[in-house]
Order: sequence, then C-alpha cells, then structure tokens
Amino acid sequence: MTELAPGSTIGILGGGQLGRMLSVAASRLGYRCHVYEPAAAPAGDVAHAVTNAPYEDQAALRAFAESVDVITYEFENVPTAALDLLESIRPIRPNRRALAVSQDRLTEKDFLAGIGLRTAPYRNVETEADLPAALADLGAPAILKTRRMGYDGKGQIRFRDTDQRDWTGVPSVLEGFVDFTAEISVIVARGADGQVAAYDPGLNVHREGILRTTTVPCGLPASLLTDAVLMAARIVNALDYVGVMGVELFVTPQGLVVNEIAPRVHNSGHWTQAGCAVDQFEQHIRAVAGLPLGDGQRYADVEMENLIGDDMARLPELLRKPRVQVHLYGKGEARPGRKMGHVNRLL
Ligand code: ATP
Ligand code: MG
Repeated sequence: MTELAPGSTIGILGGGQLGRMLSVAASRLGYRCHVYEPAAAPAGDVAHAVTNAPYEDQAALRAFAESVDVITYEFENVPTAALDLLESIRPIRPNRRALAVSQDRLTEKDFLAGIGLRTAPYRNVETEADLPAALADLGAPAILKTRRMGYDGKGQIRFRDTDQRDWTGVPSVLEGFVDFTAEISVIVARGADGQVAAYDPGLNVHREGILRTTTVPCGLPASLLTDAVLMAARIVNALDYVGVMGVELFVTPQGLVVNEIAPRVHNSGHWTQAGCAVDQFEQHIRAVAGLPLGDGQRYADVEMENLIGDDMARLPELLRKPRVQVHLYGKGEARPGRKMGHVNRLL
C-alpha cells in the first residue's frame, strides 16, 4: 500500500472519545478527519468534517466515503450493510474480517480457539431454551453475555447457581467463570507491511464492569508478558490486520486466557499518551495511513485512571497535581457510569 500523503482525509466511523483522540493524532500527522456519527458526539469538535446521520442513510454514507481516502472506525458495531456500501467506495482498515469476528462474541471465541488460544469455556445460547443445558454443562458460576453490542459490562448476567433462570432476550453466549488473579491487556499494532509492534501489557482494574485503572508496568513475570504479546501478535497476523487492537487477557495459575479482542484503539491503551513517543492513537493512524509504525517502547511508569460520572468533581484537585496529564472528552452531562475523561499519572 502506498503511504497516504499529508493533507489526505481519513474517515472515522464513530464519534466518541476514541474517535476524538484519533482525530487529534491524525491532525498532528498532517491529515484531516471526517467523522461519521449518528448521535451528537465528542469527536466532531476536533474533526475537519462531521456527518451526523444514521448508519442506514445510504446517501450520507456514500457522500462520506467519497470525501475520504481511507476509512477506519472507533466503534466495531457498525451494521454490515453500511460497511458493504462504504467498502465498495473506499478501503476499510482494519479489514472486514476483523470486524465480523469481533462483532459477535461467539464468532470471536470460535476464531480464538481456532488459532490455538485459550478462552473461557463457552456455549452458544441461541435462545432461552438452550440455557439449562449450557448451564448444566459449564456449571456455576457463569456469565451470560449478549453475543452482540456489549460494552462496559452491559448485556451481561451473572449466574450463581445452575437453577437460576434469567435471560438477556437476545442470542448470547454462556461463559464459565474464569478464576483469574489479574486482568491485563496488550495493545498491539500491525502495519500495512505486516510489521507488528506491541506496547507493554497493562494491569487493568474494573469496578462495576467498567475499567477504572490501567497501570504499567503491570508487575507480572517477564515470561508471562512475552506470552501475552506473542498471543496478541498471533491474533493480528491471523486476521491480516492493519491498525491497533486491544487484547484483553485473564491471568490464571494455568496461564493466559483471552477474554476478548477489540479491533480498535482501546481504553486500556490511554497510558501510552504519557508513556511512549508514539501513542496508540498515532500508531493506529500510522497503520491505516500506510506509514511505518512507531516502536512500542515505554519511557515512563504510568497509571491511567478513567474519570467516570462524579469523578469530574475531582477535576480542580487533579489539575493541581504534578506529573498528571488530564484528558477531557468535552461531553456535556456527567451521568453515572459515563466516561468523561481520564488522567495519566506519571509514577
Ligand atoms: P468492556 O467494554 O469493558 O471490554 P465488555 O462489556 O466487553 O466490557 P467483558 O470484557 O466481556 O465485557 O467483561 C467485563 C469484565 O467482567 C471483565 O473485564 C472481567 O472483569 C469480568 N468477566 C468477564 N467475563 C468473565 C469470565 N468469563 N470470568 C470471570 N470474569 C469475567
Ligand atoms: Mg472487556
């Protein structure tokens, strides 16, 4: 692939904070961004152009695609029909297979198992009628997750015993509970030439299903972290992937288990803004623009903390702290559970 010339336009599907930070990184490299987003969203404030239209609006999709040189996304749940139309006009990176695999938790787990990686034990629960057998098979505790559209722990039901009968209402997967000692993630990138670069795995702490902090270094043995990076590299190679991917892993006494993959920049990679010369957002733009990747070397120890809902009240205090980088997403109302920004604290 030829390198995208400065002044070219990158189309971004999805206008949340990830799209916003991608757009800033792209502009630093001399590119323009055109954001496509059905709702009013924070990326539009910093983009060259915004299309505010639903993913069903064929005329808007067509005009968007024609105005850009390449299309990427910060949101993996774009409807297939929209992607078909867009792809008939401009290339989409990361490719459609990566999207198809990660849009559905069942396909994702089948793919991971198929390339020899461990996942939580799982069963397809297509309808409510499949649930008793799946629960009997996997035992309790277990977690029922909607196959599509889940994020921040939404669409998940925990089963404490096998007699419990709750239902998500849509096709789901039942996962056996993984008794993990830690959660880590690898932010990995693959360039258009097949070059792969990974950042140091970060330690992730969740509260109420939402990521609270990511810390690097994560304090786990080097051999385990090498394994994690090799697993992430195997995933992006198998998908012929171009761009940044987040790979979430459980650490267990028996080794690493892949929780899920996200075919985009990832919340647990925000620390790279303070820890690396080329952060995950620039890395993704470099990959989709056909530029050489930056290396993943880390120059600082960092703790990233998400600012969720009421955490915004701590802003005056955070702004006074030394060695703290504040990132705000420009969202209006600080509702409970809403990601408003994050801070990167140099340790
Ligand atoms: P996110 O948007 O934060 O990635 P999500 O909605 O995609 O979340 P998951 O990553 O599948 O959801 O699960 C959220 C959290 O729930 C995990 O980070 C982990 O703490 C816990 N969890 C999920 N699946 C399992 C499992 N099989 N065993 C034990 N804990 C689990
Ligand atoms: Mg997750």
